[in-house]
Amino acid sequence: MRDYTRLAQEIAAGTALDPASALDLLEAPDTEILDLVRAASVLRRQHFGLHVRLNYLVNLKSGLCQENCSYCSQALGSQAPILKYSWLDPREAVRQAEAGIEGGAARVCLVASGRGPMDRDIERVADIATALKHEHPAVELCACLGLLREGQAERLAEAGIDAYNHNINTAESYHDEIVTTHRYVDRVDTIEKVKQAGVSACSGLIVGLGESNAQVVEALYALRDLGADSIPINFLVPFDGTPRAGQWDLTPLRCLKIVAVARLACPATEIRLAGGREIHLRGLQGLALHAANSIFLGDYLTAEGQAAAADLQLIADNGFDVDDRGSFPLPAHAGATARARGAGTTLVPNA
Ligand code: SF4
Repeated sequence: MRDYTRLAQEIAAGTALDPASALDLLEAPDTEILDLVRAASVLRRQHFGLHVRLNYLVNLKSGLCQENCSYCSQALGSQAPILKYSWLDPREAVRQAEAGIEGGAARVCLVASGRGPMDRDIERVADIATALKHEHPAVELCACLGLLREGQAERLAEAGIDAYNHNINTAESYHDEIVTTHRYVDRVDTIEKVKQAGVSACSGLIVGLGESNAQVVEALYALRDLGADSIPINFLVPFDGTPRAGQWDLTPLRCLKIVAVARLACPATEIRLAGGREIHLRGLQGLALHAANSIFLGDYLTAEGQAAAADLQLIADNGFDVDDRGSFPLPAHAGATARARGAGTTLVPNA
């Protein structure tokens, strides 16, 4: 078995994990999962302690997109039963964002569907950002509006946007299998524009699209080389009514391995458990926090997440605390409920 303790020590001392070793780790036998997570946890604690960063999504414009991203419930041709609406009123957008801020979010992500924003859309988001920064100056704001044109990242920065999310989603070698209405290089170009404007680049991936382990590694190292400050890892939610309906390729252990390898490949980067974590990691979410240091609170753009209270309980139960809020008491026990079914009753047992 690989010497995981030494591996963690070497990375902590500054030796970068090479892609071949990352692939080897991703393909480690399941019997080594705790060793792998423990190695990742050394780096996680070195750079982020036991803190978990909470992010909160506000979908400013939902569905109605003309792009054909096959994983997306908002894409052209999607029959997924999602909410569809055009731009939220700015006051409503601020109100929605404040729900997340009250829940403990350190970052609010302002998202809109579509290939990319018109300049008037940038102004809408700038107005929302200005209002939020005025009331909540400590909260970080991230925008996610698609492919950017010249000058748009600078305008968002001027309005107080701290970060911009634009996921590469998958490896360059697999990109054309998941979307054909834009190219991988278009996505990279937007990330470069964001960085040139002095805005923090958030870019991540979606796993479970049918990509190989080598392509997961290819995507992780592309993100490292692009200089992403935060990497959200999404786990495909294969909505009925989309081309990927029924594509349940992931297992909880595979998800956990991907998160751990992401930490080892990018030790000082914010690694976020993003969409689909509840249904794919299931009971392993707590273990995944030993590698990841960030989650979305509550719901996602088109899918429901677990209750925000359950997210906070997950953090506290596993011995972590929330950035900027510190530790908080464990939620109260629910109390015992007397059995009233099965043996001794006429009701069917819980079996
Ligand atoms: S991922 Fe974005 S660009 Fe692609 S279909 Fe969904 S909303 Fe449109």
